Amino acid sequence: MIEEIRAKKILFHVKYDDPWFGLKYNMNIYRGCQHGCIYCDSRSQCYQIDNFDVVRVKINAVKLLKKELPSKRKKGTIGTGSMGDPYIPLEKKMKLTREALKVIASNHFPVHIITKGDLVVRDKDILQDINRIYSAVSFTVTTSDDKLAKKIEPGAPTPSERFKAMKDLADAGIYTGLTMMPILPFIEDNDANIRDIVEKAGVHGAKYIIPSFAVTLRDRQRAYYYHKLDKLFPGIRKKYETRYGNDYGCSVNNAHRLRTNFKELCRRYGIETKMSKYDDGQPVQLSLF
Ligand code: SF4
Repeated sequence: MIEEIRAKKILFHVKYDDPWFGLKYNMNIYRGCQHGCIYCDSRSQCYQIDNFDVVRVKINAVKLLKKELPSKRKKGTIGTGSMGDPYIPLEKKMKLTREALKVIASNHFPVHIITKGDLVVRDKDILQDINRIYSAVSFTVTTSDDKLAKKIEPGAPTPSERFKAMKDLADAGIYTGLTMMPILPFIEDNDANIRDIVEKAGVHGAKYIIPSFAVTLRDRQRAYYYHKLDKLFPGIRKKYETRYGNDYGCSVNNAHRLRTNFKELCRRYGIETKMSKYDDGQPVQLSLF
């Protein structure tokens, strides 16, 4: 289901020093998401998005951005994709993300996009324009297995399609890589999966992979996830309940070994495990790990 809404504001200042992506501002054009990932954190109560499967389109987003952006004195990276995906299928028709990127380009701001949508390739021309300052696109990949991804991320393009899109952007000179998060315990936490993701990332032009060897679970996000586990992976819910109880951070099995092997593989492929950010006119290395 889709609803059109009018927002009061579109750009939100990131108050803390963002160690992951170096963001200064956050922007979400869509509330809710069509990708339907069974582990989606945005279902948590703290985000106050009721019925996450209904996508609310901020129909006045571009108009707001045109008004808000020129008044920002501090130039800093605008992030989009942390609480909803800017390249859901609906964007193909709405083109709001595309129009927002044009506004960002004309105001000479840097941008960082997180997405599972290969539709981002459509906007390569504008991203190249923004890239005269800084543009980065991080594709989220949690498994290299297209069949498994269709179970856990049913509405999103397959990992193969995401890797293909990444190569396309990398070849166009866009700074691109992966957010490899979450890794789902008992489902994705095996050596073959991590190795395959890194190898494919290397072949498809990734400059960085930011990993998380865990999944976070809370309140209604956990309830939805467990409901889906019962349907898709019978028996696994019990393992979660026994091992994690009500824990928020749920570390994968063999986390230390997987992380060590991951770092070694990244080193072999020349892939960073952190990304560079835009800061005062130039990209600098973030020191997360
Ligand atoms: S793409 Fe992101 S926002 Fe959309 S359902 Fe998946 S995890 Fe949630």
